[in-house]
Amino acid sequence: MLEKLRAEVLEANLELVRRGLVLYTFGNASGVSRELGLVAIKPSGVPYERMTPADMVVTDLHGKVVEGSLRPSSDLDTHLALYRAFPAIGGVVHTHSRHATAWAQACREIPCLGTTHADYFHGPVPVTAPLTAAEIESNYEANTGLAIVRRLDGRDPLGCPAALVASHGPFCWGQSATEAAHHAAIVEELAAMAWLAMGLNPAAGAIADALRDKHFFRKHGDTATYGQGS
Ligand SMILES: [Zn+2]
Repeated sequence: MLEKLRAEVLEANLELVRRGLVLYTFGNASGVSRELGLVAIKPSGVPYERMTPADMVVTDLHGKVVEGSLRPSSDLDTHLALYRAFPAIGGVVHTHSRHATAWAQACREIPCLGTTHADYFHGPVPVTAPLTAAEIESNYEANTGLAIVRRLDGRDPLGCPAALVASHGPFCWGQSATEAAHHAAIVEELAAMAWLAMGLNPAAGAIADALRDKHFFRKHGDTATYGQGS
């Protein structure tokens, strides 16, 4: 079942390794079949070089394992909270990539300083509020997802395809697992660029609204003109 989705999810996980976004078995990618209401996700603790499509674990949107003999990623409930809240998304990726995690640990949003950033986000990459002790003690992973959902506060998740979880790291998403992995690489690059730019000029302000809008809306919404169309 879901051979194509399993293969894509494996490929998205391997892409995180190729892009230098994960160490050891940190990080995880998943994808959802909206038609079937099923999610394929990386298994917990299996080295990337040994993973096969058959190792991907298939669950329903409430975490019941439907197929697979391995345990799913321990972050499964965060992925599921995002899939339930954001019907438009088709893939989720989590990493502890260095620069994005540094911003998360500093509990700072990544400011939108330039056009590279504005091509993907119509503003900063947001950072969540810290979880309470009660949220950490019980249903920690699901509460992590809910903290992200609260932080998005009704915004279109495809216009803000990532958030930093405070004191933790980035969660990224997209229309597919492939796109979510792409966004994980982009967020890491934006985090590194913003860090360098602010080192050169600590007073660097956000990109001008007109320039941000120009870049964001070239790629998003009804007026998008980027690429070759369909
Ligand atoms: Zn993590």
